[in-house]
Amino acid sequence: GAWLGLLGGGQLGRMFCMAAQSMGYKVAVLDPANDSPAGSVADRHIQADYLDAEALATLGQLCAAVTTEFENVPAQALQTLADYCLVSPAAESVKVAQDRVLEKSFVQSCGIPVAPYAVIQTPADFDAVDPNLFPAILKASRLGYDGKGQARVLDVTEAKAAFASMGQVPCVLEKRLPLKQEMSVIVARARNGEMVVYPVAENIHRHGILATSLIPAAVSDEMTAQAKQAALTIVKHMNYIGVLCVEFFVLADNSLVVNEMAPRPHNSGHYTLDAAVTSQFEQQARILANLPLGSTRLHTPAVMLNILGDVWFKGEVTQATEPDWAQTLKYNQAKLHLYGKSEARRARKMGHINVLGSTRDEALARALEIAQALGIESAAVAG
Ligand code: ATP
Ligand code: MG
Ligand code: MG
Repeated sequence: GAWLGLLGGGQLGRMFCMAAQSMGYKVAVLDPANDSPAGSVADRHIQADYLDAEALATLGQLCAAVTTEFENVPAQALQTLADYCLVSPAAESVKVAQDRVLEKSFVQSCGIPVAPYAVIQTPADFDAVDPNLFPAILKASRLGYDGKGQARVLDVTEAKAAFASMGQVPCVLEKRLPLKQEMSVIVARARNGEMVVYPVAENIHRHGILATSLIPAAVSDEMTAQAKQAALTIVKHMNYIGVLCVEFFVLADNSLVVNEMAPRPHNSGHYTLDAAVTSQFEQQARILANLPLGSTRLHTPAVMLNILGDVWFKGEVTQATEPDWAQTLKYNQAKLHLYGKSEARRARKMGHINVLGSTRDEALARALEIAQALGIESAAVAG
């Protein structure tokens, strides 16, 4: 079969490989690590730095098309690959999505609101910010994920200290908003402009990390339509090709603001593996291979529970102990996905469980039992 290429070796890449392989493609992964979730299932692993010209040439010549599984890949790597093969998403799109300053101004240019913010280049910039931005979150513009590269700050003094210890320029100082709910929308757009959008997921975060997604989201039809429309507007304006996730905040007055976007499949879309006709990873493979997009229809409500490395360290245990998966899988309609990571660490994403049910409440009740059996801390409860 034909070869598809991937930059990055994480779990999103692993699930992409598996989806592409199940449709008969071979996948080549470029990743610097010698043992990674995607590298270990790829048909070929090119172990090299993302900017290694020779490795990029090898990948680009082997593959009909290449994609990425994480937004922090150097945009230049995608640019270089474009000399050899089709690349989606394009370097230009990834450049915007990986930089909060560019991202926020892009979203605003689409007429879609974001949280009030200020761009911080120097400590003096704090003296000019609107005091209404506090309490705030200082976020490094680049390279953050799972709440890393962020600090909660109450005033200018705290913000200056956080900026100094962060050591990254620029940052954005973002107003901390009272969130009623969080939700996300995944869209897929093909080279011919065809677009499909997935059902809206409702997301619960703990300590800045996604803990649980519930589908369908418990929001009004109007808000669902508004979120989908915003996501479609963003991909259209960007002329984006690929799978993209848009994260939203729902405020007390039911207004929506965009938090951020990810130019790839997203953790909050893992439910699509078991609860939708076409998974977000299959969609990514279809786009890369220039095939028609698949149906995004939800065939059953679902609750996705993330499995962090913490559950390897239940109680006073200091040495990692793998959970007894039988205790999870004995529950009806629970589907386990593990990422094959060699080492469990606290706060590290090790896998997830999709729990299905004939209603969202049924799936949630079951998910809460499973969370308790696994020792997942205060599993999500919303709506
Ligand atoms: P990801 O892993 O999703 O890429 P990230 O490190 O990019 O995470 P954000 O999405 O910016 O981080 O923030 C993580 C979480 O922190 C959000 O989902 C939300 O729960 C909370 N948060 C972020 N910004 C704000 C804000 N302005 N007001 C209130 N809560 C916020
Ligand atoms: Mg992010
Ligand atoms: Mg986020």
